[in-house]
Amino acid sequence: MWMEILEAQRGPSPPRLSVEDAAILYEKADFNMLRSVALERRRFMNPGNHVTYMIDRNVNYTNVCTINCQFCSFYRPPGHSETYTQTYEQISVRFTELEEVDGVRVLMQGGVNPELPLEWYTELILFLRKEHPSIALDCFSPIEIEGIAEVCNLSTLEVLTALKEAGMHGLPGGGAEMLVDDVRLDISPKKGSAENWLRVMHEAQSLGLTTSATNVIGFGETELHRVKHMDRIRDLQDQAITKGWTGFTSFVAWPVQLETNVFGKRNRGRNRIELGAGPTEYLRHVAVSRLFFDNIDHIQGSWPTMGLDIAQMALFGGADDIGSTMMEENVVSASGTEKTCALEVELQEAVRRAGFVALRRDSDYNLLETPDVASDVQGFPAPPPLQPATNA
Ligand code: SF4
Repeated sequence: MWMEILEAQRGPSPPRLSVEDAAILYEKADFNMLRSVALERRRFMNPGNHVTYMIDRNVNYTNVCTINCQFCSFYRPPGHSETYTQTYEQISVRFTELEEVDGVRVLMQGGVNPELPLEWYTELILFLRKEHPSIALDCFSPIEIEGIAEVCNLSTLEVLTALKEAGMHGLPGGGAEMLVDDVRLDISPKKGSAENWLRVMHEAQSLGLTTSATNVIGFGETELHRVKHMDRIRDLQDQAITKGWTGFTSFVAWPVQLETNVFGKRNRGRNRIELGAGPTEYLRHVAVSRLFFDNIDHIQGSWPTMGLDIAQMALFGGADDIGSTMMEENVVSASGTEKTCALEVELQEAVRRAGFVALRRDSDYNLLETPDVASDVQGFPAPPPLQPATNA
């Protein structure tokens, strides 16, 4: 059964993959065949032999949060002795560091901080646009937008409109985790239903903000839950495209990190549920996502949670982008990830050693001029590029 489904996915215009068929591929398809068809699909959707990356950084402006997601080790509740909120000047220093390495985008996210009104955010954006005009600001997750709306008694659309008018470029896809309420309401009851995340994203897309879709796996959910998550995103993307909007630029998934988290300790071994996801499972997820998303152009490999070697392998199974330099990361890493920064040369080398050409991009996936950083540092020759797949 899985062979017929997979075979039908070959070629330039395969039928749309149903949720049921995607779950069958996820569970049963031969690992190498699945990845091979996903690579072929990637080559149809993103012709050429290049893999993109971005020079950016994360800024986690506050760790105060009232949402208490069970898997999160980053947040501190209001009044806790370890809370922080960075000043505009402290944030600006981080932007300057990014400018020094030709960075083009900051991803700024924090917690749901009940002390910060909308004006704190709009004035921050105005300040950063003035001080650092070349840096695109992709800021906040849907739950932060909901938090600001609640503090200020405004609608989420009104909050997004004010932030966009101040100069915000995009709304990153953080906080999607698992858009299936069975799982979502169990791990993050205060985040509310999947519908909330989807609604705020839809509003952001209606305003022309750049958006991306994320997915965290490994909470003990089934493969069908994971594909249903993808289905919610694919549906929303259909709606965006129908309205002539750009919609999601990309999809990126990673396994939940629970090494130092009480949720992980409490659930380890319980009901024989394995939390997180290993490399094989992750690579299956990437491959299925490439086949499932016929309406989202780019699939990212995730190096911060999987390591650069597994991210490199994802390039042979559906991913066409290796993410970004990040420079710092405090949310996922608080639960156990150690590597939170990649040098440009590391991303270039990972791409080059896999046989692809590494190209810089911006937040909208526009290609940028790419200096050959790696050749200045490394002494070994690049492998020959792979031939693009054909449908023969
Ligand atoms: S994941 Fe985000 S919303 Fe949830 S507790 Fe952590 S900071 Fe708060």
